[in-house]
Parts: sequence; C-alpha cells; structure tokens
Amino acid sequence: MSLDTVLSRIDSDLDAATERLLDLLRIPSVSTDPAYKEDCDKAADWLVSELQALGISAEKRPTPGHPMVVGHVDGDGPHLLFYGHYDVQPVDPLELWDTPPFEPAIEDTPKGKVIRGRGSSDDKGQLMTFVEACRAWIAVHGKLPCKITFFFEGEEESGSPSLVPFMEENAKELGADIALICDTGLFESSVPAITTQLRGLLGEDFTITGPSRDLHSGMYGGIAMNPIRVLTRILAGLHDETGAITLPGFYDDVPELADEIRAQWQGLNFDHESFLGDVGLKSPAGEQDRTPLEMIWSRPTCDVNGIWGGYTGDGFKTVLPSEASAKVSFRLVGQQDPDKIRKAFRNYLEDNLPEGFTVEYRTDKGAPASQMSIDDPAFEKARKALSDEWPRPAAYVGCGGSIPIAGYFKEILGMDSMLIGFGRDDDQIHSPNEKYDLESFHKGTRSWARILDELSKG
Ligand SMILES: [Zn+2]
Repeated sequence: MSLDTVLSRIDSDLDAATERLLDLLRIPSVSTDPAYKEDCDKAADWLVSELQALGISAEKRPTPGHPMVVGHVDGDGPHLLFYGHYDVQPVDPLELWDTPPFEPAIEDTPKGKVIRGRGSSDDKGQLMTFVEACRAWIAVHGKLPCKITFFFEGEEESGSPSLVPFMEENAKELGADIALICDTGLFESSVPAITTQLRGLLGEDFTITGPSRDLHSGMYGGIAMNPIRVLTRILAGLHDETGAITLPGFYDDVPELADEIRAQWQGLNFDHESFLGDVGLKSPAGEQDRTPLEMIWSRPTCDVNGIWGGYTGDGFKTVLPSEASAKVSFRLVGQQDPDKIRKAFRNYLEDNLPEGFTVEYRTDKGAPASQMSIDDPAFEKARKALSDEWPRPAAYVGCGGSIPIAGYFKEILGMDSMLIGFGRDDDQIHSPNEKYDLESFHKGTRSWARILDELSKG
C-alpha cells in the first residue's frame, strides 16, 4: 500500500527530520524586534531552499515587512493551500529559560521526549510537520498526490501587517479549494482536533460625562448624579440573572449547534471543574442552560475588561467625578454582525444615560466569527485520516479566541480553512521553555501524509 510506504519512510527519517527542524529553530526569527530583521530573512531563505530541494518551485516574496515564502506544486486532484508562520515570539524574560531559546535540543522528560526551544511548537515545528510529510511523499512516489500551494508568513507574531495587502495583490495566485492551517493544538494528547469555529471580537472603549467638572460630595452629594453610579448600573444590566446577555437582538444571528457537533462535544467529556479549578474558580458563569464547552466555543460573550473613574489614589477624596470610563468586549459567534451588535450596545447605553449626560467612544473595528462548513467532504476525509493515526477519534472543536488568518482566507480568497495542529496545552508557546513533543512532531507528520492521501482520493 502506497500510504504505508510513505508512513514507514516518515518513521525511518524521523531523526533526520528532527535535525532539520533544529536547524530552523536555531534561526532567531523574532518578527517584532527590528534587531532580528536579517534572521527573519534567513528563516525565509532556509524554507525556500528546503522547498526547492524537494523540487517545489518556491521563492521569497518581499513585503514592506518580513518576506512571505510562496511555493507551488502542480498536480491532479484538489488544490490545497498550506499556511504556517516562520516567525517567533520574543524570548523575554530570558532568565526564566532553563536552556538557551535558540540552542534547541531534544530533552527527555517524564512525559516523553520533547524538542525544546523558541518556535518549536509555535509555529516552526508545526509548519515542518507538513513539509516533512511532503518530503516523504515525494521520496516514495516522486511527486505529491495533489496540487499544493505553500504559504509561509513571517509576521504572524507581530500582527501580520503585510498579510492582507499581500493576499489582495496575489489573490489569484493564492486561491485554492481549501486552506490547511497548522497553528492550533490537539484537544487532548490522544485526541486530535479540527477547529471549525472561531469566535469574532468587538470592543467598545468609552467615557460617559455628567457634571461639567469634578464635584465635592459635601456640597453636591445627593443632588448630583455620579457618572460611576450610572456606568456601573449600565454595565451590570448587560447580563441577566441566568447569565444571558440582555441587548435586544443579541442572539438573533447565533446558530444552534448541529446535532453531530453537539454529540461529538459531549463525547469529549470536557472536565470543566478542573479547567476552572486551575484558575481558582468553581462554577461556570455563562448562560445556565448551556454546557461549559458551548460557553467557551460556540456562545457569544460580553465582558467588562476595564473600568475607571474618580479618585483611586491613597487615602480618600470625596469626589463626585465628572466622568467614568470602561472597556467592554464581545466575543461573537455564527453570523453575528459586529456593526449590528455595536449599534445595539450603543442604543442600550445611550437609552440609559440620564438627561444631560454625554458619551464619547474610542473604538476600532470588530471582526466577525468564522464558521467552517463541514458539509465540504474534505472535513470528514481529514477527520478520518486523523482518527486513523491517533489513539482516539478526531473531533471538530471550537476555539474561543480569534485566528484572523482563517477569516482572511474566506474574505479575500473565498475559501474555507481546516485548522489542524498538534500543539499541546503545556507547550508554553509565547513563554519561556517552549517545547514541542517529539510525538506531536512525528505523529503530526504522519497525520498530514494520511490527510494528503484521503484528500487526493476523488
Ligand atoms: Zn502561531
């Protein structure tokens, strides 16, 4: 069987593949710090030559920031685009690292062998799982099983300033049937995951003003309306006693979970008590009629992230402040429209301001949620492939945060994304002592080989 030969090739090549990854990890491609500009360039060059060595036409493409790496392989079957990023987070605080962040090594730990070093999990190790799967495939078959575009970015950890313009300018070249994004994690060490829904985000930063100047409560207390009292009343009214958000129309565009997804999530046996217990909490704060996984993956939220006003220094000052401010954010799901939610919030706020009060907003634009359509057979094929490789079946999961790239692929290139990754919760990405389990690297590579095989079958 041809797939088996590819898998055996991956097994026998593991040491060499690991050495190649260590090579890439030695390049300190920290994108946010200009001191590492040349290193980012070097990492891009390294990837170009790796792809070229596989017979893939690849090049480094300039942007106003760090370069993109784009490669193409022609072939039959579906056209896949693979995305990963070669830049890494800064290493500070350096003194908390047990080993130098850019002198990666294989380390024995009680949980097995790990690759230690900055970028090992986020995202160089993950990116290389795909490259190594392609290498094995080419070694065995002389070519890849389908048409593939490789797209590596060098600014993911610094806000991707060049990404949207680059995608817009090269939309025709980058368009494919579906994108594969390898920058997420396993659900658990034995359960692989395909992330199919990502929440969007909307923020509101505002100040309400009542009296024209700060007042003394000895003189005005009782007759003057205190903006902090107004603000806290308004913020407290955003949730009802069941944990639901009260803005009119807020849930209009929130879909119910598909039965199949609901069943899968139930099967994951998520331990919310230990999830909350880890941060010193006991009971879930979301809508009472929802499961804990729904609360973090598929339900929208509203949170007050900051609140300030009046006198907060030492001692006491019996001030009635002129103004009070807050930052409120919403995680959005389904088809919730950031503009519509913003309008509902502002209407609610302004309807509840006392006469004579004013409000001033300082806010960016919001981002809608991404929801992949798992009706595309590619999702079930990938899920089967992952389930064949790992001890337990793969699950479609949600992600409480936002991964903007998936939204851009949809918006600019019109394609859905499959977010598949092999990171683990304890990888310490963005922190000292980042690691990637050798097993993640090995089984991740094997997983991609299986996924390529499944996807290329008509
Ligand atoms: Zn990443």
